[in-house]
Amino acid sequence: MKNIKLIKLVGGLLLVLAMIFLVRELDLTEYLSVSKAQEKISEFGILAPVFFIVTLIVMTISFLPVTPLDFVAGALFGTFLGVVYVVIGATIGATIAFWFTRTFGRPFVEKQLAGKFKKLDYYDKKISANGLGIMLFLRLVPLFPFNGLNFAMGLTKIKFKDYFLGTLFGIIPGSFAYVYFGESLAMANWNNLVIAVLLLISLASIYPIYNKFRKKEKKEFDVIVIGAGSGGLNIASFMNKAGFKTLLIDKSDENIGGDCLNFGCVPSKALIHVAKTVRSGHNAQKYGIEINGLVDMEKVRQHIKNVQKKIRKNESASYFKKQGMEVRLGIAKFVAKNGIKVERVSGTLKGLKGK
Ligand SMILES: Cc1cc2nc3c(=O)[nH]c(=O)nc-3n(C[C@H](O)[C@H](O)[C@H](O)COP(=O)(O)OP(=O)(O)OC[C@H]3O[C@@H](n4cnc5c(N)ncnc54)[C@H](O)[C@@H]3O)c2cc1C
Repeated sequence: MKNIKLIKLVGGLLLVLAMIFLVRELDLTEYLSVSKAQEKISEFGILAPVFFIVTLIVMTISFLPVTPLDFVAGALFGTFLGVVYVVIGATIGATIAFWFTRTFGRPFVEKQLAGKFKKLDYYDKKISANGLGIMLFLRLVPLFPFNGLNFAMGLTKIKFKDYFLGTLFGIIPGSFAYVYFGESLAMANWNNLVIAVLLLISLASIYPIYNKFRKKEKKEFDVIVIGAGSGGLNIASFMNKAGFKTLLIDKSDENIGGDCLNFGCVPSKALIHVAKTVRSGHNAQKYGIEINGLVDMEKVRQHIKNVQKKIRKNESASYFKKQGMEVRLGIAKFVAKNGIKVERVSGTLKGLKGK
């Protein structure tokens, strides 16, 4: 255990020293200029792709902006190969940066979070549970700083696999737009240049669009009732009428009413009513009334369904919505002490919060 710690420490120190050395030796600040970077990298001839990837890795770890290199990739290697080299270099650089903060920063963050910052701890767990989706989103939208995320994500609880795959696949569209821009610029192809800019704008607008929908979804309630059976319906209706902001959740519209409406009280009482009527018919003989005939069970079943249908008019999602209640259909799961998510067959409604 001690040995592993020591190896990690030596590895971290070597990484920092190597970065300082490489930044100085390669004169990396020169690579912030597209024309100079292009000139320097092309000098390597057949080895230019290798040198390009190494430069990109070092710049990523050194927290230097890498966008100029994306343009250079387009100009030197064309869009296809440019994207391949950019994705390889950026993913390796991002992985090393992540490893650094995960190894040296995460233990400290974990200590701070333990029992002290519940909200941060909640988000930390969320990142761990939905890491791949979050990472893909963060990488897809070019508004989030690439280098900053590399180091920041290492401090969170995100699983390495999610971080790695989210980075690898999430940066492809953005890289494509930048590299394509670089190639179009080098070839003075103004039409393609416009396409590249439009692509970048589209990627950037994912965030505000997502935010708009997310805000709609995130809601806070005074009371959340899980299960619209006899118990849930009574309490939800009461709280709603009493003026509390109430959310009622059940698996589906058909489940509303619970056991009582669907399998228990209602069908059994409707059946008992039929049985009593049949018995009265048989007993009617003693009054001189002759009633013969068999019971048509199909019709009995239909009668029960009709009774249920009548009640369902006042026990359905649309009915309770009309009463001013919020209703969500799906399986409710606790994600925090007062946080619930509702999983539907297609998609997930998240961020429901009770007081
Ligand atoms: C044959 C029979 C006859 C009966 N007759 C009578 C009677 O005459 N009179 C009487 O008072 N009682 C009767 N009962 C009992 C009555 O049906 C139950 O007491 C009553 O249904 C209990 O209501 P509940 O709300 O506690 O639970 P349920 O009716 O079981 O409702 C629970 C609801 O929660 C939902 N749910 C569960 N988990 C989740 C989740 N994670 N997310 C979203 N939704 C969820 C389910 O879909 C369900 O709709 C009878 C029962 C049976 C079986």
